Amino acid sequence: MIHKTIEMKHDKKIALVAHDHMKRDLLEWAKYNLILLRHHSLYATGTTGTLLERELGLSVNKLQSGPLGGDQQVGAMIAENRIDFLIFFWDPLEPQPHDPDVKALLRMAVVWNIPIACNRTSADFMISSPLMDEEYERILPDYDEYRTRAIK
Ligand code: PGA
Repeated sequence: MIHKTIEMKHDKKIALVAHDHMKRDLLEWAKYNLILLRHHSLYATGTTGTLLERELGLSVNKLQSGPLGGDQQVGAMIAENRIDFLIFFWDPLEPQPHDPDVKALLRMAVVWNIPIACNRTSADFMISSPLMDEEYERILPDYDEYRTRAIK
C-alpha cells in the first residue's frame, strides 16, 4: 500500500484528557513534566483543562467536557490534523456514560497514527523521547485508495 506523510512540527499540539478517577494522576504527571510541556500547544476536555490551568498555571485550549462532546471534538481535531499527540488517561475500572465516544477517540488516534499514552508510564516514555522536540514525518496509509474505492 502507498503511504503518505504528515509533518509534526517541533512544538506539538497535545490533547490531554482524563476521566474523573484519573485526573489526580494526570495532574501529578503534568506537574512533574511542566517544563517539558510548556512550549507545546495544549488542548484538553473541559474539566481536565480547567484543572490544568487552575492547579498548574498552564495555558490550555479548553473544549467541551468529555461527556458533553469533548472527546468527539478531540477526535475531529485529530482527523483535521489539528491535534498530533494524545495523552488520554481513561478509567479502566468504571463504565462511562460516553463510552462510545471514548472508543471513537481511541480509534481516531489509530486511524491517523498519532502517539497516544493511556497511562503514566507510557506518557513518561513518550514525553522524554528525543522526538518530542524534533520535527517528525508521521506515516499514514494513502486513504485516497479508500476514498476512491469502487462502490457497486
Ligand atoms: P472532562 O472530560 O475533562 O471534561 O472531565 C474527560 C472525559 O471524560 O472524557
